[in-house]
Amino acid sequence: MNAGVAIAAIVAGGLLLLGRRPRAGDTLALGRPLDQALVTSGWGDSRDYRATADNPHPKHEGLDLRAATGTPVGAMAAGVVAYVRLEHTGVSGRGVRLSHPNGLTTEYLHLSRVLVRAGQRVSAGELLGLSGSSPARPDVPHLHVTVRANAAALARYRRLYGMPAGGFGSTTRGGTAVPAEPLVRATYTAAVIARASARGVAPPRAA
Ligand SMILES: [Zn+2]
Repeated sequence: MNAGVAIAAIVAGGLLLLGRRPRAGDTLALGRPLDQALVTSGWGDSRDYRATADNPHPKHEGLDLRAATGTPVGAMAAGVVAYVRLEHTGVSGRGVRLSHPNGLTTEYLHLSRVLVRAGQRVSAGELLGLSGSSPARPDVPHLHVTVRANAAALARYRRLYGMPAGGFGSTTRGGTAVPAEPLVRATYTAAVIARASARGVAPPRAA
């Protein structure tokens, strides 16, 4: 292939990319990470958080789901393992972060076992590890999940769900933390929707 053909191919690829039809990966919907998903602490709850100079109004940037230690944790969508933490220290403990094609990342913390490696591709629902508890709260086993959105996904999130009452969470290399309840459609119960609505997060559109 000569240079002219290669450039034409790249341009054509770019045009196809811009003009392509919406795909499943364009949506912000996520599956549930556990078979049974009971929310025990939602987005923005501030109990158990101590204010610091850097973070005077700390809040819970994620969703806690009740799970006995050893419960299988599945990927909320297909993606790539972006990061694995094996040290069971601090508040987070062991964890896995996935990067998804729709601009979201999902993070699974307080694991008792990690069963994937960084760089590994995973399909939706694939086993990532086993749940556990935070090293800071070993007596309360649960799974913590945080969903982050990059700039494009954040714009879609705002368009679909509006701005939550407490605003969005901190921005890190993995994106901006967003409330996960409206995204984890399969986790929905009437109570979760009511609580998300009370916090100013619009319930999801009918799929
Ligand atoms: Zn949590």
